[in-house]
Amino acid sequence: MNTTNDSYVAPRRALLKVSGEALMGPGQFGVDAQTVDRIASDIATVSRSGVEVCLVVGGGNIFRGLTAAARGMDRAQGDYAGMLATVINALMVQNALEREGVPTRVMSAIHMSSIAEPYIRRRAVRHMEKGRVVIFAAGTGNPFFTTDTAAALRAAEMDCDLLLKGTQVDGVYTADPRKDKTATRYDSLTYLEVLSRDLNVMDAAAISLARENRLPIVVFNIHEDGAFERVIRGEGNFTRIEEAG
Ligand code: UDP
Repeated sequence: MNTTNDSYVAPRRALLKVSGEALMGPGQFGVDAQTVDRIASDIATVSRSGVEVCLVVGGGNIFRGLTAAARGMDRAQGDYAGMLATVINALMVQNALEREGVPTRVMSAIHMSSIAEPYIRRRAVRHMEKGRVVIFAAGTGNPFFTTDTAAALRAAEMDCDLLLKGTQVDGVYTADPRKDKTATRYDSLTYLEVLSRDLNVMDAAAISLARENRLPIVVFNIHEDGAFERVIRGEGNFTRIEEAG
């Protein structure tokens, strides 16, 4: 269990990265409605507590450009398909949040004016100031990137105090804890440790972007009920990545 010191300050504005895999729940593909509802309920609790929340949603549960490229598809074309997959997920998450009574806006990096607003930085900030949860869809809008990088980019643009990565386990481990019983969890790491040890947290572009912008990253288990709220308060299990000292 991470111990919180008394000087812990909860973030004013936070970005949560929700991977496509997280939305699959126990399934092997697509979206599990119950899982999306549960994640939405956690997001609603944090939003109601007064923290400004935005989300970047992945698409790997539906389509990944790299996987398609390995099977012979043009990489850039595959990546555009991957970005469209994130829009599908964003609409599902939006729907679940609205059923929780949370006002939301989906902003897409690829223009899709009938279903989502175009991404405009100042407008996104304004939405959050009004208490709306902004869901960023279509990643960065560019092929050859990932939604992890999109999460670091949007978090920096939105001037977030914290970037949270919700994963299948409660932090970063020395090895995959689902395969290696001797694996132990790091309470904290520096960006350079993540990069030099090649730890499987977020891709290097995302870590570098967070490092340049002094944006702390917290990795936690998104499948534990209420974990998002606990982690926002600095409680529960997680790994925090930031500059030493
Ligand atoms: N993608 C992209 N540019 C971006 C973000 C995503 O091309 O800025 C594509 C890429 O093909 C990726 C897919 O969208 O494989 C789905 O995103 P990602 O794999 O990051 O989703 P996650 O692993 O979080 O579910």
